[in-house]
Amino acid sequence: MSCDATLFDRFEERFFFCLLFKHKMPMDVDRKFMLEALKQADKAAQCGEVPVGSVVVFEGEIIASGFNRRESWQDPTAHAELIAVRRAAEELGSWRLCDCTVYVTLEPCPMCAGMLVNSRVDRLVFGARDPKAGAVRSLFALTEDPRLNHAVDVREGVLSEECGDKLTTFFRSIRRARKAQQSSSDDNDVEAD
Ligand SMILES: [Zn+2]
Repeated sequence: MSCDATLFDRFEERFFFCLLFKHKMPMDVDRKFMLEALKQADKAAQCGEVPVGSVVVFEGEIIASGFNRRESWQDPTAHAELIAVRRAAEELGSWRLCDCTVYVTLEPCPMCAGMLVNSRVDRLVFGARDPKAGAVRSLFALTEDPRLNHAVDVREGVLSEECGDKLTTFFRSIRRARKAQQSSSDDNDVEAD
């Protein structure tokens, strides 16, 4: 009786350990790669772009990365995850990214969510939600729509505060710069008067 109980306790212990392990590990790995996506977002900010960054992971390694280049390239499709996925396809020599996970700091827009379905990406991990354009959870659920021929496993909210703060800081600095520019041009107008 006591032997059975001990066995059961051990089984239970292992079971909960597995649950904990299973739950904890992907989160730590996801955080690790999201930090890399955040570094890409920093590069975007340095170029005066809205700070969104992305990395694509295959077999536990980053095979491609990208950051928003819409302004510098004057390209409406130059979103971080789209650039990263395009580079990943080039790297793997295939448009099918079945075993890849895409990390992006901001919830993908309809264009990028559609692209993720089309590229057969296995997983998507994103940081902050985009209530104005998000097509994964906020406005649409494109990556999990059962009517489409592929569904993407989604995890949201990884380092969401850090991802969101980067955007807030960027837009705040732009507003400040605009205000400063406005007031200096007002001063010039007064001087000219
Ligand atoms: Zn997009």
